[in-house]
Amino acid sequence: MTVPTPLIAGNWKMNGLSAALGEARAVAAGAPAKGPRVAICPPATLIHRMGEALAGSPVKLGGQDCHPEPSGAHTGDIAAEMLADAGASLVIVGHSERRADHGETDDLVARKVMAALRAGLEPIVCVGETLEQRQAGEALSIVTGQVRGSLPTALGGKAFSVAYEPIWAIGTGLTPTTAEIEEMHRAIRATLRELFGAAADTAPILYGGSVKAANAGEILRAAEVGGALVGGASLKAEDFLGIVRAI
Ligand code: PEP
Repeated sequence: MTVPTPLIAGNWKMNGLSAALGEARAVAAGAPAKGPRVAICPPATLIHRMGEALAGSPVKLGGQDCHPEPSGAHTGDIAAEMLADAGASLVIVGHSERRADHGETDDLVARKVMAALRAGLEPIVCVGETLEQRQAGEALSIVTGQVRGSLPTALGGKAFSVAYEPIWAIGTGLTPTTAEIEEMHRAIRATLRELFGAAADTAPILYGGSVKAANAGEILRAAEVGGALVGGASLKAEDFLGIVRAI
């Protein structure tokens, strides 16, 4: 059985001025050379300087979003090629905040995945249900539908990860039970096998939503959990390293 290399990725969202680079330096100094892969996805304004702060460390750099096109008249947007040029090697796509704030559909997310592949970036594709959908018993069908719609067949044989982030757990302090996380991660794994065959067994399925050092151990030990996408608790090096060390 293939076991994916775990990934712990910090999503700084719209947080972080130059002064916050000290936190990235502290993560770089404290990240284990062996163990999970570790990444930070800062706002675009910090990518280049964070690359310098992380240089020589095992910590990877990621973007939080990319446009499907490589260049052109798209004011305010960032091409995957620009992220790669600034030093990123990963990119988050389809985060629920982008799906909600910017009306991103599965189809658009799939095009962003294609852009990431074109630029040589490893996509972290986010999926997750609302509280209403979970309460209506629709969580599994919604999330596996997002996986089918957001992951193009071109991902076969490529490095990528899926982040399961229940929307009601993001930034709320709420988390699903371990049984709920395992049920969803198994369903995502089965869907990945249908789409890509056993080759996709190397793709980690991350959990995201109110992960912190105190709950990381239990979450990261759950079946089919191959790491975490971390929002709030990635902003302080000590909090983030506590999660990295929990694996
Ligand atoms: C996220 O938005 O990707 C996330 C997981 O946020 P938080 O850890 O703050 O819930």
